[in-house]
Amino acid sequence: MTRTLIRNAAIVTMDTQGDLPVGDILVTGDTIAAIAPHIGADDAQVVDASGCIIIPGLINAHMHTWQTALRGLAANWTLLEYFRRMHAGLATVFEPEDLRIATEMGALNQLNCGTTTLADWCHNNPTPEHNDAAIEGLLASGIRAAFFHGTPKPDPKPGQAPFWEVPHPRAETERLLRAHQGQSLLSIQAAILGPHYSTLEVALHDFRMARELGLIASMHQGGGPARTSDGWERLEEAGLLGDNINIVHGHALSDTQLERFCSLGMSFSAAAESEMTQGHGHPLTGRLRMLGRAPSLGVDLESVISGDMLTQARVALGMQRSLDNFAYREMHGSIPPTSTITTREALAWVTVEGARMLKQSHRIGSLAPGKQADLVLVRATDLNMQPVHDAVNTVVMQASLANIDSVMVAGHWKKRGGQLLGVDLAPGIAKLAASGRKIAAALAP
Ligand SMILES: [Zn+2]
Repeated sequence: MTRTLIRNAAIVTMDTQGDLPVGDILVTGDTIAAIAPHIGADDAQVVDASGCIIIPGLINAHMHTWQTALRGLAANWTLLEYFRRMHAGLATVFEPEDLRIATEMGALNQLNCGTTTLADWCHNNPTPEHNDAAIEGLLASGIRAAFFHGTPKPDPKPGQAPFWEVPHPRAETERLLRAHQGQSLLSIQAAILGPHYSTLEVALHDFRMARELGLIASMHQGGGPARTSDGWERLEEAGLLGDNINIVHGHALSDTQLERFCSLGMSFSAAAESEMTQGHGHPLTGRLRMLGRAPSLGVDLESVISGDMLTQARVALGMQRSLDNFAYREMHGSIPPTSTITTREALAWVTVEGARMLKQSHRIGSLAPGKQADLVLVRATDLNMQPVHDAVNTVVMQASLANIDSVMVAGHWKKRGGQLLGVDLAPGIAKLAASGRKIAAALAP
């Protein structure tokens, strides 16, 4: 079994054991064997990480990776334009190969940016071939992934039931589960419509399906009026709410609902930058914090914003501090004496909270013996990083893609010395660009 000893780095574990100003991490196979100030392991391959800060691999809890070839295209669209032009327009011309290349290149970019786990929320998959192609892309990239199997949202066609009346295709979910049983880096989960985007009958069906199949059920909440206004009450009456339920966005939920959902163990994913730019409303970070909880974060849409999760953490932190500072000034007429949210909380949103959302806290999201060796070496000797007074502050507030030196997933290096390993990017980028041109040409003026 391969043994790798990473030496002499500042280590931010995000675990109860705390951080090390300088220390070593021993990786055996796919697992962290030890973290200590000094580890002796003569048989291990030694990597000198002097000058680096090691953090847990980042977790992107919500992204529609199928939109990678449309990067920036929707940058000035509100949510209403996005629904019309993306879901009812561009999405309808995707062929399986478009999903494969977008998903592979989008996932590779996640690795490049320090994301080791991607929740790929795939809802542009009208045929099984589209699903297979997207999953092929995830597997080819080598990232740890949860494939959230969703359904497309085209405009209703004459003679066809509109998407909100169509139950989640259980047979296809079961086919995917059978096909990918036992994959170490891939799980299949459910991206359902939820009560905001479907009838009550469909929501009940989909929640039951997820529970019976043991899946996380993730759904968008928000963006116009709900299809089923009392859906959450009915779902709770049916006993279908629990820790496998993940709400994305959710800004319009009432305080009572949020409190109830937190007490039921449900998870929340915010896409702060996407929500701010598209007109959703304020992300849930602060309201969850009042309840002693925190969201995971997702990029949501590379058709709108950058895929870099450190940027997401920083944007969400700045947004919530702005809201908190404003509220304090309104109440007291002065600048608050201290900050509410810390940089460490922001780092937790993109690590431990992502693991919680995926029900993988025992395996990923923090660095500790026995956990999966998913980690990132952030080069702290660079011009934009020195001097380092506080490793977490530096990572959250100063670091960018330019400083992501090395990335390990399950004990395997995916990036070293600033370069992705084992992949020739040029042909993939060319295919991605060709796919993007083809799809964009279908956009009505
Ligand atoms: Zn989304």
